[in-house]
Amino acid sequence: MPDYDFKCTECRKRFTETQTFEEHDRGKRVKCPKCGTQKVERVIGAVFAKTSKKS
Ligand SMILES: [Zn+2]
Repeated sequence: MPDYDFKCTECRKRFTETQTFEEHDRGKRVKCPKCGTQKVERVIGAVFAKTSKKS
């Protein structure tokens, strides 16, 4: 199963959530493990790779 990185927009905690592809496809709601909000955003890949090509 793939791991997805998330960042909480409330408390800024970063965490990893393991989801199945099916769960991810259905847009499973992810909660912050620290403050419990669902205001989290995906962190895609390495954040330092900003100069790589856009797709
Ligand atoms: Zn949080």
